[in-house]
Parts: sequence; structure tokens; C-alpha cells
Amino acid sequence: MKREAVRLQKLRPQMTELPLMSSGFDYLIVGAGFAGSVLAERLASEGKSVLIVDKRAHIGGNAYDRYDDAGVLIHPYGPHIFHTNSREVFDYLSRFTEWRPYQHRVKASVDGQLLPIPINLDTVNQLYGLSLTAFQVEEFFASVAEPAEKIRTSEDVVVSKVGRDLYNKFFRGYTRKQWGLDPSELDASVTARVPTRTNRDDRYFADTYQVMPLHGYTRMFERMLAHPNIKVMTNTDYREIADFVPFAQMIYTGPVDAYFDYRFGKLPYRSLEFVHETHAQEQMLPVGTVNYPNDYAYTRVSEFKHITGQSHAQTSVVYELPRAEGDPYYPVPRPENALLYKKYEVLAQATPNVMFVGRLATYKYYNMDQVVAQALTAHRKLSRVKVLEETLA
Ligand SMILES: Cc1cc2nc3c(=O)[nH]c(=O)nc-3n(C[C@H](O)[C@H](O)[C@H](O)COP(=O)(O)OP(=O)(O)OC[C@H]3O[C@@H](n4cnc5c(N)ncnc54)[C@H](O)[C@@H]3O)c2cc1C
Repeated sequence: MKREAVRLQKLRPQMTELPLMSSGFDYLIVGAGFAGSVLAERLASEGKSVLIVDKRAHIGGNAYDRYDDAGVLIHPYGPHIFHTNSREVFDYLSRFTEWRPYQHRVKASVDGQLLPIPINLDTVNQLYGLSLTAFQVEEFFASVAEPAEKIRTSEDVVVSKVGRDLYNKFFRGYTRKQWGLDPSELDASVTARVPTRTNRDDRYFADTYQVMPLHGYTRMFERMLAHPNIKVMTNTDYREIADFVPFAQMIYTGPVDAYFDYRFGKLPYRSLEFVHETHAQEQMLPVGTVNYPNDYAYTRVSEFKHITGQSHAQTSVVYELPRAEGDPYYPVPRPENALLYKKYEVLAQATPNVMFVGRLATYKYYNMDQVVAQALTAHRKLSRVKVLEETLA
């Protein structure tokens, strides 16, 4: 009760201003991550008035970054590396940030060595003490692979590509930690995107554009939301204001099951606990991320200065500990969960004047660029509907 009173008091100055600013907003956007912010910017740029709210204390959603107490730029919700093949997405975001080139590299700690992941020629040679050529490693994979008649699970995907030993050393333990499930219980889609290479390319991603916002994600979001038609309210659950701030349409980027009060039950998510540390040394890891498939409770540790390019006498790292409970991060890819989502999707489609966009609202693991692309498409759809309405009026 007391907390609620303090909270309302904190809100009051912002709330009293709102009706003066507008007799009503064209859009209430729930969530100031990529999905919400891109839509806010696009709609504002064509003259719409937008109120964007986030229940967190900041904008940027999971991509939010900030300087920690030591002055190191960190990603509180885990390392976010931007990569895309979409020229449209890259050009769009380039309006709000300059970039620095960055190619992410990851090593896995296996059998006492740090080996490149995705598995490549060097991984195999270093692990087994071999000196195979690219051609020979292809033969090697073919000799150890266990072909499956039908690829159903994540285990099938990996074992049919690189055999059981590499599967056990690099994938099985990591996946069990990450998902709390054995790869044999997980949809093929989870590992379908783990490539193996026969050359020495040790970049984690192969996309055309691999860059980081030069001054960080938060600065980019600030620029995106700086339009005079956009009002931003943080520390605000949309339910606190939706009944008394007038708006014509809502764009909802939060969890779809929460919107419908979990009518069909909770959509399962995997969560993470982030343990941040700062060390009095310039560099701690040889690359941006080290994976621990077989040891420790954490899956990986990442060092931000590799990713952000910042120079600093100290360094900050984050450990990721998978959890069953907590903030919703990864939809659990199992057929029964897809079916449960379908029920919510039907409800969402039948809800007038509300559009569901983004990772949580569509219960799908999307990278940042995919969410930007989805938001740009949603905006085009809204514009088409508007043109149609005007034509028919
Ligand atoms: C650990 C981790 C690492 C990742 N690394 C990468 C990476 O390296 N590269 C990459 O491309 N992608 C990465 N991603 C994915 C990336 O975070 C998402 O693609 C992106 O953040 C999705 O944007 P969004 O707007 O859909 O959702 P979000 O960023 O989650 O934003 C949704 C917002 O809605 C708000 N909200 C929810 N409910 C309410 C409510 N009731 N009222 C008000 N506000 C509400 C939330 O507070 C949140 O801020 C990673 C994700 C995780 C979890």
C-alpha cells in the first residue's frame, strides 16, 4: 500500500502534464525496446502523437546499456551484439547512430582448452591434435556423423552433422544448462542455426553487417525517441494509466499471455540471472565470450570492452546463469508451447485496436534486427490500413 502511494506520487507530476500535452494520443505503445521504439519513431515521423510507456526504469528494453560504477559500458541484460543481413534495417538504424565495426568471437572451454565455436577446422585440429586440411575435415565430419532418417530434435541436428563426441563435448551440456532439458527433448530449431565450418573462419556470426552502435544502444534509443510527438514514461506499467489516458490505438510489445491475464495458462520461458563483476585489470578474456559447456553452473562469460571497444584500466564481465523463473527471456521451443501460443495468437488477432509486435508479444526468439524488421513491417501495415480507410471514407 505504502509502496503504491510512493509510486503514484512519483507518477503524479508526469501524469498531470499528460492531458495538457494532448487531448488524447493516437497511439499508446507498451514497451520501449526495439519493437516499441521503432514504431514510436515511425508513427511520430508521420505526425501521429505517441505515448510510449515501459515498466522498467529505462528505455531500450533488453538492449539497454549503461556505465557501471567503474565507468565501464555494460549491457545489464547480457551481451547484445548487433548483426544483420538486412540493408533496410541497417540503413534505418543508421539514422540514429554511428557504428563501430565489431566481429564477435567465442571460444568454448573443452578438455582444458579454449577452442573456437562454431566448430571449425581449428577446433577439430586442436581438440584431437590433428593437422587436417579443409578438405580432410569434411571427410572427418562425414566419418563421425550419424545420419538420422528424420531430424526432429536438437540432438538429431548436431549428431547427424558432427557425430556424438563433438556433440557431447560442445552441445549437450550447454543445452542442458541453458534450457534445463536434454537436446533430445528440444525442437530441432534450437540448434538448427549452429553452423559448422570446414575453414578457419572463427567469427561467431557470418552476417553482412556486424557492427555496434558507436555510443551505445541507449544513446541510439534516446535519439529515436527524441521526436516532439513522442512522450516517454518509464517506471510505468501500462495498466496504471490505460484507463485514464485517452488513446486511439495500442501497440503492445509485452508478453502476450500477460495481456490476456494468463487465460490459457502461462507461456513457458527460460530466464537468466546475470552476475556482473568488475576486475582491476585491462582484459580478462581472450575474446568477447567464453562458453562453458561442461563446467560450472553458468553457461558463458562475456567481457564488454571487447564488444564496445571502450578503453579503460578496469574491465567488467557478466556471467549468465540459466533459471527456470525470472524475467521472460527465451520462449521454450517445444511443440506444446507453440500450440499454447497459437491460442493466444487467435485472441490477439481478434482484439480490436491493439497490435501485438516484438519478441514477447509474438512468443518467438528474435534477434534485434529481426525485431526491427518486424516493427518496420508492422508500420507499413498500419500505413496501408490508414490509406484504405481514407480511400473508403
Ligand atoms: C541474454 C540475451 C542476449 C541477447 N543477445 C542478443 C544479441 O547478441 N544480438 C541480438 O540481435 N539479439 C540479442 N538478444 C535478443 C534481443 O534482446 C531482442 O531481440 C530484443 O530486445 C527484442 O526487443 P523487443 O522490443 O521485442 O522486446 P524487449 O527488449 O524485451 O522490450 C519489451 C519491453 O516491454 C516492457 N513491458 C513488458 N510488459 C509491460 C507492461 N505491462 N507495461 C509496460 N512495459 C512493459 C518491458 O519492460 C520491456 O522493456 C538477446 C536476448 C537476451 C535475453
